Amino acid sequence: MSVGGDEAIGIDVGGTKINAFRVARDGTIAERSSMPTPADDEAATLASMVALARSLTTPEVLAIGVGAAGMVDTTDGVLRFAPNLAWRDLPIAQRMRDALGLPCQVDNDASMAAYGEFRFGAGRGYRHLLLVTVGTGIGGGIVADGRLFRGANGFAAEIGHFIVEPDGPLCGCGNRGCWEQVASGGAIGRVGRATVLEHPHSLLFRLADGDPSKVTGKLVTQAALQGDEVSVGIVAEAGRRLGEGIAGLVNVLDPQVVVVGGGVIVAGDLLLEPARASFVDAVEGPEHRPRVPIVPAQLGNDAGAVGAAALALEELGRVMV
Ligand SMILES: [Zn+2]
Repeated sequence: MSVGGDEAIGIDVGGTKINAFRVARDGTIAERSSMPTPADDEAATLASMVALARSLTTPEVLAIGVGAAGMVDTTDGVLRFAPNLAWRDLPIAQRMRDALGLPCQVDNDASMAAYGEFRFGAGRGYRHLLLVTVGTGIGGGIVADGRLFRGANGFAAEIGHFIVEPDGPLCGCGNRGCWEQVASGGAIGRVGRATVLEHPHSLLFRLADGDPSKVTGKLVTQAALQGDEVSVGIVAEAGRRLGEGIAGLVNVLDPQVVVVGGGVIVAGDLLLEPARASFVDAVEGPEHRPRVPIVPAQLGNDAGAVGAAALALEELGRVMV
C-alpha cells in the first residue's frame, strides 16, 4: 500500500479564534495558521475553517480533525449547540469532506485538548485522564482506558454545566449555578468587579483605574500574580470551588490524573494549591485511594488542534484496519 504521508490537519474553533495546524503523527507541528472567528456568521465560520484547512493541505495530509467549542454530535460531525455562541447545527464534517475530499473527525474542543494532553502533554504515560479547561467557562475531556469517552452522542464531559449552586449566577446555557459560574475565569472577573470598590488600596483597584467595568478574570489573575492580596483571595476561592468540583468528578470517573488547562492556568499554584486542598477535603476516602495528581496542562493553546489531528489519524487507522 502506498501512503502519501503521515500527517493530519488539526483545527481548533473557539469563539474568538480558529487555530489550524499541520501535524505529524508524533505530534510535531509542521505548520500553523490562524484566523479570527466570524462567530456571529455560521457560513463564514465554516468557510474560514475550509480556507485554513485548504491552505495547509499537502499530499502528506491524510485526514482532518476539528475541535469545536460546543456540543458536537460525533456520530455525524455536527456541532448542535454552543452555549456562549450563536452556532446551531453546524455541519462541520460534511463541509470539510466535501471541500477537501478527506475524512474528517469532529469533536468538542476540550475533548480534543484532552486527547492532545493524553498523547503528547501532561497526560503522557496515563490511561485514565480528566482534563478540566478553565477559561471564560469550564470545559472538559475524559480519556478512559486510553480512549476518548464521548457518551452516546458525543455530549459527554460538558463538565462546566453541572449545577453546584441552584440559586447561583445565571449561566450561558440558561441554568443557574453551573460549576463554570463559580470556578472559571468568568467567575473570577465577576467577583472582582463586585468587590474591587471595597478595596481602594489594592493593586487590582489601581490596575482597573477604580472602574469595576474594567475588571476581568485576566486582570484579577495578573494582579494576583503580582502579589495583590485581594486578587490572590479571589483566585484562591475559584480554586477552592474548582477542587470541590474535581472531587465530584473523580468520585464518578476515577482517573489517574487531572490535568488543568485553559487561560486561567497562568495563575499556576495560586489556583491549583487551593484546588488540591479542597479536592482532598471533598473526594471520597482520600486516604484509601492512590493520590490523584492535579497538574497544569503542558500544550497550552495548541492542545486542541494537536489532539484533533492525532485523533483524526487514529480514527483513520481504525477504518483502514
Ligand atoms: Zn451552564
